[in-house]
Amino acid sequence: MSENPQPLGGNQMPRFGGIATFMRLPGTTPLEELDVAVVGVPFDLGTSNRPGARYGPRDMRAESVLLRPYNMATRAAPFDSLRIDDTGDVATNAFNIFDSIERITAHYDELLAHDVIPITMGGDHTIALPILRAIAKKHGPVGMVHIDAHTDINDTMFGEKIAHGTPFRRAVEENLLDGPRVVQIGMRGTGYAADDFDWSREQGFRVVQVEECWHRSLEPLMAEVREQVAGGPVYISFDIDGLDPSFAPGTGTPEVGGLTVPQALEIIRGCRGLDIVGGDLVEVAPIYDTSGLTSLTGANLLYEMMCVLPGVEYRD
Ligand code: MN
Ligand code: MN
Repeated sequence: MSENPQPLGGNQMPRFGGIATFMRLPGTTPLEELDVAVVGVPFDLGTSNRPGARYGPRDMRAESVLLRPYNMATRAAPFDSLRIDDTGDVATNAFNIFDSIERITAHYDELLAHDVIPITMGGDHTIALPILRAIAKKHGPVGMVHIDAHTDINDTMFGEKIAHGTPFRRAVEENLLDGPRVVQIGMRGTGYAADDFDWSREQGFRVVQVEECWHRSLEPLMAEVREQVAGGPVYISFDIDGLDPSFAPGTGTPEVGGLTVPQALEIIRGCRGLDIVGGDLVEVAPIYDTSGLTSLTGANLLYEMMCVLPGVEYRD
């Protein structure tokens, strides 16, 4: 075992005990000593339907107690390879969406000044905009692998520019994204208009509607995606509603006919080898899921993101 911060093992403290950091990491490592920061953004002022994603970080921490350090499928050993810790939450302003956005960017500016890769527990999808503002300041416009039922490229929602359905329209306008290196996977459901997905495609995004994914492995798709988004920094943004609501009922805007959990694992594992500079898992609203399954799945997908970061070693 390395000297890096390690998750507290189930044989040191029972899994139902201890302080609820992500994966029971120490939660005390200074930023200067970290490669990866797990960050919570408890925020849901941008939701258009059912609220509750503000509880996502706390509940994903709670469900993450069952995660163990080694990935038995890919052989990844993220905690031996990288210095990873839970650095806590952004102090969002529950009474002001715009102040919250400013606070989130300032928090990520600070993280990035210490050269850490932020892995974020949301929060609704609005938070991708302030995070990308900080990321692009450091890395320039980034490629993106975006998993979601929705494209989130509305110009406005109820007349407002900042909401959970608009972050990637704003991100393009602000030159935070490298359009031809963006892929959106899992899009489906009913639209406001028949051309709802066209704006994305006009920016050079590849939009993979969910019907293209049904009944098949996504490994071939991810080979194409790697080719498309390689050649620069890449951000992963995973909206849990990309999954079918039978796997992830705890979310605000569920859409039927979604991705399966094995497909989600194929997508994230398929990002291995890319220059990933950050990732998020958003829209977990645990109050609509009495089983804890949505948060458990979210925590597992965040762990899988850690397993494909640059510098992770794989055991033979
Ligand atoms: Mn979304
Ligand atoms: Mn969505």
